Amino acid sequence: MAVKKKKKAAKTSKKPAGGVRAAANAVVREAVKRKRRPGRVFVVAGPSGVGKTTLCKKALEALQGRLHWSISHTTRPQREGEVDARDYHFVSAEKFERMVGRDEFIEHATVHDNYYGTSRKELRRIHKSGGDALVEIDVQGALQIIETFPEAVMIFILPPTLKALEQRLRGRGTDSPAVIRKRLQNAYGEIAEAPAFRYQIVNEDLDHALADLIGVVHAEACRV
Ligand code: 5GP
Repeated sequence: MAVKKKKKAAKTSKKPAGGVRAAANAVVREAVKRKRRPGRVFVVAGPSGVGKTTLCKKALEALQGRLHWSISHTTRPQREGEVDARDYHFVSAEKFERMVGRDEFIEHATVHDNYYGTSRKELRRIHKSGGDALVEIDVQGALQIIETFPEAVMIFILPPTLKALEQRLRGRGTDSPAVIRKRLQNAYGEIAEAPAFRYQIVNEDLDHALADLIGVVHAEACRV
């Protein structure tokens, strides 16, 4: 008799808990779907000389097929080794201004006397390809994105110290002392904007900073 009773109890416990099970199932399915859903936009900004381009290139290599480089438009002259529509869309100032007039950019800015902008079309292209976008831009442009596109994941790259940034800018050996002084002044103003970003990554050691950036991409895929 006692044995029979036990069997009955076991049977009852196997029964699905109805509404609760369905709710749990919906949570699991939603988490799986969210993780696979493309279309996140990661915006990496920071002062000149902080190493954001190197960091972004390494992150793209590490997350191939998942993270896609957003190709900006610019009016600056093409440099040796650069390829149109791979590194940038190189356009005339007239064409760029026409695009601004038609509201084709999610952000645009003048950097070192040239126009730069991220087009809506470019982000749509990446979304359609099934991936997430990596947008590497200057701080003015990033601040526009914070205003107009709150879903974007904003990441600010910081130097370990201001002294280190100064040394990196001087170490490039490409700019005059006056240009370096101007860039440093700009950098201080830009760093003061970093609290508006969702993430701040200190680039003291490239490997650690890269692990942080990749970590942000993974964390965002799990974000509720
Ligand atoms: P470079 O001409 O050396 O490739 O880039 C100069 C600066 O322009 C860098 O700080 C880079 O992050 C920024 N930049 C590149 N593309 C864009 C863009 O689409 N929008 C904005 N606002 N800045 C950009």
